[in-house]
Amino acid sequence: MSFIEINKTDYFHNLEILSTKAGGKQRISVVLKDNAYGHSLLIMAKLSSEFGIKRAVVRFSEEAIKIEPFFEHIIILSPKKGEKENPKFSYVINDLTQIPLLSQNCSIHLKVDTGMHRNGIDISQVQKACKLIKNLDGVLTHFRSADKLSSELFWQKKIWEDVKKEVLKLREKRPLFHSANSAALLRDEKCYDDFARCGISTYGYHSLPSSFKTPKLKPILSLWAEKIATRSLNKGDRVGYSGEFEATKKMMISTYDIGYGDGFFRFDGEGELLNGEKKPFLGKVSMDSCAFESDKQKVSIFQDASYVANHFNTISYDVLVKLSTSIPRVVV
Ligand SMILES: *Cc1c(COP(=O)(O)O)cnc(C)c1O
Repeated sequence: MSFIEINKTDYFHNLEILSTKAGGKQRISVVLKDNAYGHSLLIMAKLSSEFGIKRAVVRFSEEAIKIEPFFEHIIILSPKKGEKENPKFSYVINDLTQIPLLSQNCSIHLKVDTGMHRNGIDISQVQKACKLIKNLDGVLTHFRSADKLSSELFWQKKIWEDVKKEVLKLREKRPLFHSANSAALLRDEKCYDDFARCGISTYGYHSLPSSFKTPKLKPILSLWAEKIATRSLNKGDRVGYSGEFEATKKMMISTYDIGYGDGFFRFDGEGELLNGEKKPFLGKVSMDSCAFESDKQKVSIFQDASYVANHFNTISYDVLVKLSTSIPRVVV
């Protein structure tokens, strides 16, 4: 059976780098949405809590409930109508129309659009929102181009600083402020707000151009597959759907139990894609299997999701988050 290994030492290495940069463990929140980017919500909640992280960010309250014992504070990015008040949970408001859908007693974090134009209220609505929300415990924004070498982050941060000033004038109690994702934290000298929201960097990746000085993060997830069947091929024998691979010599191959049904990408057999042991995938990836020149009991499919991401012209987030929840995850 295929499985995923999560490397605890490397995870703690990443968290150490990030919390040092941010100015302490209390200035980091770990983003555990979407099954902790495919790593396993529960495993990553337990490990980050063991490391000393007190704050987590998830998408839904169903996730927050599962990890409640591990954190002091959990931020829910996409609350639904009628969410219940919970002393540990804060709900993010993305639009003024969401305010009446939640109980007045819920802890609210207000998201302000400082230029990404995705979620969050317009800066012209900050005053109104500050009047309407009873428990405004946090204000946040999200940067659209923190990983791009351009001036965009600078003007967006300027707008953010103006929003902070305005909120401080309007509210008696100072809410928590947070804006930086992984790229913004890694790019800046330090964390300028109360805490940063770190997702992909905790898992060992960043997408900053090489011109930025970045610490050496370590990918913590590796995907493994086990052998299903072994056979020997003669020169000219073909493998898999449409016989995309043709043996150029006598060789021993095996099939392994990972395919696109497990959330791995469907390699179409054209060009070259290497597994985690630098062996080429032979032919097309099937729904539940793939083939390599090997007769080992288990093979590494990948150790570094950014290699797979590059091949498929996507980002490491996309490769990781698609991994099926039915693949067992083990901590090593
Ligand atoms: C997903 C998400 C993050 C984490 O971003 P990374 O690039 O993975 O660090 C931070 N903030 C918000 C609002 C998000 O949705």
